Amino acid sequence: MIEDFPANEVEFDRRFHTEKACLDYLFQLRWPEGFSCPHCGHSKYWTSARGLYLCRQCERQQSVTAGTIFHGTRKPLTLWFKALWWFSTRKASVNATTLKDLLGLGSYQTAWCWLQKLRTCTVFTDRSKLSGTVEVDEFYLGGVHSGQRGRGAGHKCKVAVAVERQGRKLGRLRLQVIEQCSEQELTSFAKANITLGSHITTDGWFAYRGLQNKGYSHKAVVQSKAENKESVLPGVNLVTSLFKRVILGTFHGRLDSKYLQRYLDEYVFRFNRRTSRSIGKRFWRIMQQAAHSNPIARKDLMLVSATT
Ligand SMILES: [Zn+2]
Repeated sequence: MIEDFPANEVEFDRRFHTEKACLDYLFQLRWPEGFSCPHCGHSKYWTSARGLYLCRQCERQQSVTAGTIFHGTRKPLTLWFKALWWFSTRKASVNATTLKDLLGLGSYQTAWCWLQKLRTCTVFTDRSKLSGTVEVDEFYLGGVHSGQRGRGAGHKCKVAVAVERQGRKLGRLRLQVIEQCSEQELTSFAKANITLGSHITTDGWFAYRGLQNKGYSHKAVVQSKAENKESVLPGVNLVTSLFKRVILGTFHGRLDSKYLQRYLDEYVFRFNRRTSRSIGKRFWRIMQQAAHSNPIARKDLMLVSATT
């Protein structure tokens, strides 16, 4: 596929200021090989207003926004494109209040829904697993007693974390909500995210002991009383504290646990592209996902108590 994206915001504004330009771009992403009727496979079509394509053979209509996150929207695509541009190219997360103000959206709920939809576009099915030396651990958010420690404690949310170590530098990251810090869950987290044969470093938690038999080389660093997590697993420790800072800074500590995985996915997307110079390419990647994501019903996105 041809990588076609604006290099910067000036180019973006110049290119995507009409509905036609946005529809053409979506068309190119939906049908990179040219139009193909989903009903009969015919390639010739007539166009009508607002992105409708009429098959010349079976005469059925196909909308360029059908099967995308923009499906059924009453807002202009130019606005959606701008939201997607900001979402994908900014270094830090944007919260719903900020997006509402940036775009002049009528309601907070609309901005909130848009952000939830955009977050679902941050995971790529073709992404490759982590490899080399990888630190694995878990962290906790919320909890009945904030001072409570340990894996069995009544924490609201548990998150498994894996990050590549390249010497003193950090490589790519993965974050996943887990129910229990059990051997079964942590092993399947490793299998889903880390290439077999990689070197995994963890602390001494018993649930990691099985990794050695699952095709990994595993090193458990047992923490002595004098040591803290920082010296034992510096990579995950850093990532965890950065993520918690985002929650406090951008979302004022109010993340709904029901949607936690989406925030984690967004964070991973930004983290793994922190050194990438091409902001336009980030826009292109998210747009590719957006053009092929099944639309999410509003009821699946909404939550009365949503505050972020
Ligand atoms: Zn047809």
